[in-house]
Order: sequence, then structure tokens, then C-alpha cells
Amino acid sequence: MARTTPPRPLDVEALFPEVIVHRRDAVRLHPRVGNPSARESSLGGPLLWPRAQPWPRCDDDHPRTALSPPGVESIPLVPVLQLFAADVPELPFPTGMDLLQVLWCPFDHEYGYVPRPEVFWRDSSLIDVEAVAPPRPTGTHNDYLPNPCVLHPERVTDYPNWDLPEGVADALEDRFEQLEEETGWSYWSHLSVSDGIKVGGYPTWTQDPFWPTCPTCNQRMDHLLTINSSEFDGESWRTWLPIEDTPATGTIWDLPYEERTRIQRPPGLMLGDMGGIYLFECLRCPDRPFAYHSDS
Ligand SMILES: [Zn+2]
Ligand SMILES: [Zn+2]
Repeated sequence: MARTTPPRPLDVEALFPEVIVHRRDAVRLHPRVGNPSARESSLGGPLLWPRAQPWPRCDDDHPRTALSPPGVESIPLVPVLQLFAADVPELPFPTGMDLLQVLWCPFDHEYGYVPRPEVFWRDSSLIDVEAVAPPRPTGTHNDYLPNPCVLHPERVTDYPNWDLPEGVADALEDRFEQLEEETGWSYWSHLSVSDGIKVGGYPTWTQDPFWPTCPTCNQRMDHLLTINSSEFDGESWRTWLPIEDTPATGTIWDLPYEERTRIQRPPGLMLGDMGGIYLFECLRCPDRPFAYHSDS
């Protein structure tokens, strides 16, 4: 079943033409618990993996937290996302590549006290790839181990919230407030940045924006994708809850906890306090420098 974000309740571009030049396309992935195969795009599912390439492992020194590894041996990374170009052609695949894989070490790391992700771009037509079942390290907290999910990519439009240029945000502040008073719709929570796990668009930032600088060319890196703990929160659900998941009576918050969680947090991830991890790449540099940041 496809997942459809309802049209925005107001015409953002008619109300605030200043944001039009800042619009960006995003692809909400709408993960839902399922049984993806290694030949499908998935979250937390099995991967196509080259036979000759050893499975990646993490040998970092992990800080001692509630989410630190049980032993000192190196940790196998776990699959987080596998995206084929056929499903998400919007991804900036390097020439000749048609498969993106994101894995992470599912324990806290010094940087951000979150899992440490790695990205792999591949050509899926290479014949030496095989289906690999995801490792499930024992002794780890389930908050960083995604439940296997199938994806339902959907194209939406993002307008920046915290990434609005300061002058534009200042100029619009009063009109945003007036709109909210008159209609109950908040530009920041309901009308700007799409929520949930997504490719492209703007990061959903729960704190001040932090755009990494490319170590090679010293320019601001590009947002690749966002892994959020949650598809929507107590505010954003009003515009980002898919039509197909909207209860016939009452609201999403009237559903029993288990049932709501299957819609709000299908992968079962909890990054900090309902935060997210944002992945960045530099598209200008051929070796595609990669960075990540969490504001959870
Ligand atoms: Zn690690
Ligand atoms: Zn660069």
C-alpha cells in the first residue's frame, strides 16, 4: 500500500512567495515493518554485498554508556538503508552506480553519542554480489537496531524552517505568527520541512542547524538523507501523517500504543530523545567526502 502525505492545508507559495526560491524536493521513504529481500530497497533489511568485500566492522573505542558494547571485540555494522536507483532516482548516484547502502555501528560513539554510519555506493549489476542477512549483534540496545522494513517512497516539497536565510525568516516572522493565530497552522511545524525518514530536502533539525564543511574543498556539504526516530510528533502529525494511516475516527493519538508505534516509529529506532541522524556528502568532490551529525 502506498503512503500519501495529504496536500498542505494552505498554499504556502501563495502566502509566502519569499520561500519559493528555497523549495527543495524530498523523498519520504515511509518505512513499514515487512520482509524485504536483498534485491529490494529496504530499511534494516538484507543487503546485496560483494563476495570479495569483508563485512564492515567498527573498532572504535566506545564510550561507556547505557548503549555501549558488551565486550571489546570489533562490532559488525548493521544495515540501515539499502536504496536502488529505480526506487529513488533522486539520489545523487555517482556515475555507474545504482545502489546506496548505509550501515552503522549500533552503539554510542564519542561523536554525538549515537551510532556511527558508513555509506557505500555500488553497481548492483556486478555479478559477484550475494544476498547477506543482516548481522544482529547481541547485547546491544534495540533502540539502534532497526526492525526490517519495506519502503514506500513518496515525493514531497520541503520549504526550509531553521535553514531559512535569517533575513527572510525575520521578514516573515510576523506573518507566520499571524497565520498561526488565524488558522492554527504553524509554518515551522506544519508547513515547511517534511518529517520522518527521507532522502533530500532539508534536515528536520531538532536543534540549531549544523552543516558540516567538506574537508577537501572547504564548502558546505549537501544533505543526503535523514534517519529520524519518528515519522511525526505531537505537532507535525497534523500534516505529515499519511492519509492511509489516518484513523477513520478519532486521531492517531487515540490508537493503542502498539498500533500507533507501528505507524509513528516502524523501525523501532530511538536516537536520543526522538532525535535524528543527518547524513551529508560533498557532491562537488569526486571522492564524495561523507559526514554525519546528530542533534538528538
Ligand atoms: Zn562503533
Ligand atoms: Zn568538497
